[in-house]
Amino acid sequence: MPELPEVETVRRGLQPVMQGARFNKVEAQRGDLRWPLPKDFAQRLQGQWVERLDRRAKYLLADLSSGEVLIMHLGMSGSFHVAQPAGAHAPGDFYHARPRHSAHDHVKFHMSSGALIAFNDPRRFGMMKLVRRADLDREPLLHALGPEPLAEEFDSMALARRCKGKKTSLKAALSDQRIVAGLGNIYVCEALHRARLSPKRRASSVATRSGLPNERAGTLVKAIKAVLRDAIKAGGSSLRDHRRTDGALGDFQHKFRVYDRAGKPCPRAGCGGTIKRIVQTGRSTFFCPLCQK
Ligand SMILES: [Zn+2]
Repeated sequence: MPELPEVETVRRGLQPVMQGARFNKVEAQRGDLRWPLPKDFAQRLQGQWVERLDRRAKYLLADLSSGEVLIMHLGMSGSFHVAQPAGAHAPGDFYHARPRHSAHDHVKFHMSSGALIAFNDPRRFGMMKLVRRADLDREPLLHALGPEPLAEEFDSMALARRCKGKKTSLKAALSDQRIVAGLGNIYVCEALHRARLSPKRRASSVATRSGLPNERAGTLVKAIKAVLRDAIKAGGSSLRDHRRTDGALGDFQHKFRVYDRAGKPCPRAGCGGTIKRIVQTGRSTFFCPLCQK
């Protein structure tokens, strides 16, 4: 499942061909992604300009000249493929162990930029939705999301306030989209290693009893921001072997310190520990029991 850095990489790949461009023609090959496509989907997009292409957590948000916002989510296996007169590329093409099968191109955008953008999703957990910009604040998909981890508003104060009194593990708390948005298994494990904090530690231990941040909160917030920035810089992570077709493919998986490295030595200088895998709330957690306390 792509996390924030992968979705941000996709956004950066789509922005030059979508933002400031008009939907000349929209083809919806089949009406059922995770949910059916919105009513009159193609008609509501055709002729509209994309004023901005933003991201909120793992959602891409295209602001349209009609006053509607196109919300897009990649789900488990969704990807965008961009074909231009100058040549094709796939921004943030993380999951392409197998060749892309055009039978899974469910939606096609013919943009005035000259680009043909195809949304490909073999498992169909992705989704597209149209909502009025004025209703975005009340949109159920976005409403409960916690702060953007790279935004200034996400600081040790914000983290402590949300973790105050929480008996769940730090791993579970950071994976909770209401506490901080956009993180998943990989980047939670990586951030906790950078912060030298055990994933098993109680979430409440980053806050005082009154909900103020302690030193751990500050360290953890810095680690989260740093790992996300590094991953975005690397173009995200590719989770399966794939043929590298262009420089836009993510390679942060080569920089994982703990994720998927069970049994390997801890990369922290002088630690000497061995990375361990445990299962927390049904998901694998990777950490170093020696330096993460
Ligand atoms: Zn270690």
